[in-house]
Amino acid sequence: MYSAIFYQGHKPKGQEIEISISSFGIKLFRDGNAVENWNFDELKLDPNNEDGHWIISKKEVGASSYLEIKDQQCIDQIKAYLPSQLKRKSTPSKWSTASLLLVFTGVLIAVVGLLYFVFLPKISYAAVALIPKEAETTIGESGLKSMLPSHDEDTLKSRLLQEFFSKLKINSEYKIQMHCHKDQVVNAFALPGGPIVVYDGIIQKMTHYSQLVALLGHEYTHIEKRHSLKSIAQSLASYGLVSLLVGDVSAVVAVIAENVNSIQNLSYSRDFETESDVNALEILKNNKVDPKGMLNLFAILEAEHEGAQIPKFMSTHPMTEDRMSLIQSKMKKMEIEFEENPELESLFCQLIGE
Ligand SMILES: [Zn+2]
Repeated sequence: MYSAIFYQGHKPKGQEIEISISSFGIKLFRDGNAVENWNFDELKLDPNNEDGHWIISKKEVGASSYLEIKDQQCIDQIKAYLPSQLKRKSTPSKWSTASLLLVFTGVLIAVVGLLYFVFLPKISYAAVALIPKEAETTIGESGLKSMLPSHDEDTLKSRLLQEFFSKLKINSEYKIQMHCHKDQVVNAFALPGGPIVVYDGIIQKMTHYSQLVALLGHEYTHIEKRHSLKSIAQSLASYGLVSLLVGDVSAVVAVIAENVNSIQNLSYSRDFETESDVNALEILKNNKVDPKGMLNLFAILEAEHEGAQIPKFMSTHPMTEDRMSLIQSKMKKMEIEFEENPELESLFCQLIGE
């Protein structure tokens, strides 16, 4: 029971009464006797209602009855039962031109927003689908040349990485090419059409070949699913270059080639990262490699993140904790069997110099 003030008639004087709330509506009591039942669907809320002070009215022939409620607990209880149509009634019943205009503008913004977020990725992905794989490889290789000077490459480690990758059961139409970059940065990235750049810094942090399988599986998926092309196309499209994207494939290739340097700093969407993580886990499973390698890889990245300098790899691979818990839950469901793989183990030991 809550107390409220009840007004009735043309010149109402407030009367103290008690009310109880149920899913049907509000029951009014005077001196302990139920005097009225107000169903929620015949009530109206005052548009100026605020917490701690509510006016509820019930329209009757000729006049209205009002309830004034100042008990916040009571207001909260009504709110919980409030049918949605009643909430709508709280808005002014007559549409002014200004409010109509406001609604129209709102709808317009919503429609444009919807077009932008729903169709833009689709249009830019459709444009990406038109790009032939060979053009993609050309883009990736020229990008690699411009960002990785040949003297910075550890050719021995590149070869070992290549051999390591070739031992994995992965079917791809792309010619995946490994490049080890002599740099202590804990970083790795993939370029369109085939190249994967792994910095020596991240290799040195690894303690087991399963971590390398996880890393390569992840980067490989960025290539296989054309994530960097999709990201670039999407960002170009958002600059209003949609017509360019859908109109002319060679123009698309040219524009993307010009932007390939941005790939190194490209931050993939969360969806792309998740797709790569999940596929990397599949690769671990298919190759009977310990899936914990994936979690250990995340731990390496996390540890780096805690250091003063945030490595690029982290900024392009955000939200490590979220990714970790997703993979953990997937791992539980998958029940992955694994065994030792002496070939991978041996190549990994050579890579880390043991
Ligand atoms: Zn990634």
